[in-house]
Amino acid sequence: MKNKKPSVLIIYTGGTIGMIKDANTGELKSFNFKHIYKHVPELNRLNVLIESISFEQPIDSSEMTPNHWVQMAQMVFDNYSNYDGFVILHGSDTMAYGASALSFMLQGLRKPVIFTGSQLPIGTIRTDGKENLITAIEIAADADNSGMAIVQEVAVYFEYSLYRGNRSSKISANQFEAFTSPNFSELAVAGVTIEYNLDKLFRTKLTELQFFPKLNTHVGLIKLYPGIPFKAYQNVFDINHTEALIIETYGSGNAPSDSTFRSLIENYINQGGIVLNITQCSSGSVHQGKYETSTYFNKVGVISGGNMTSEAALAKLMHTLGNFENREERIQKLTGAICGEIG
Ligand code: ASP
Repeated sequence: MKNKKPSVLIIYTGGTIGMIKDANTGELKSFNFKHIYKHVPELNRLNVLIESISFEQPIDSSEMTPNHWVQMAQMVFDNYSNYDGFVILHGSDTMAYGASALSFMLQGLRKPVIFTGSQLPIGTIRTDGKENLITAIEIAADADNSGMAIVQEVAVYFEYSLYRGNRSSKISANQFEAFTSPNFSELAVAGVTIEYNLDKLFRTKLTELQFFPKLNTHVGLIKLYPGIPFKAYQNVFDINHTEALIIETYGSGNAPSDSTFRSLIENYINQGGIVLNITQCSSGSVHQGKYETSTYFNKVGVISGGNMTSEAALAKLMHTLGNFENREERIQKLTGAICGEIG
């Protein structure tokens, strides 16, 4: 049983949460994170030892690239044994992609890695940033009676809800309730107390933390729409440009029976390309073969992405292509669950 103060490392990457209004220009700009206690004095009252590190140049999350994900994952990996939990402050726009990527890069977690951010800068009166930050720290520090972390995975905390990172999606550009996990229930809801959904929390079968820093970015994503000019997408279906593609299909995984589309897919797969079918509906799952318009996919070897979000599917493709060479192994990884992202 531990009785020392839990410790949390905050990794500040940028985004709205760390911004204040320039008094002269009115522009939003990042503040020096070392001054966080000035903006959130409540942190002094938490029974948590808080330390922070920051990106040298904090960024809007629209600027995030897989290299930044590697940087973040490396920061967690390097500090893993020194802290009880981690909070990553990140812009909300691409948070679901980043949280998904880190879930695949850091497998075997037994400590929480909580992404949070805000819709309003921490320096504004009605900010949602303070509550998000304080509760994210509380969750990152929370342990059960035996001293084990309650959350042992990458998660997103936003507006009183904790979501599995690789199940989350940003759904609102202006509501405080900006995230959801459409195909998986919340991991926790913060009210007067933080109520954990204990049977939904991920538990790894790995014996220790494994770091997978390699991401292969030769992946493409095509969203179908009525009238889509498939010929314009020829380069995306070129194995020299991409090694795997996500097709965002309609409903339960349906697509038009257009002959140009079909020959692009068949040639691509014959050359070794991988095609993953993800529904563009915000909830529900792909069921290839349910309708005649998706039976074709089964015939030519398109992989069903089940109920994965596009964000998780994209990160999972980058991870799978980055770490496994063999096509069968890649397909096996893509169809099964790695860390609670599907099913
Ligand atoms: N554009 C900002 C970002 O994603 C929005 C936010 O932080 O919520 O960095």
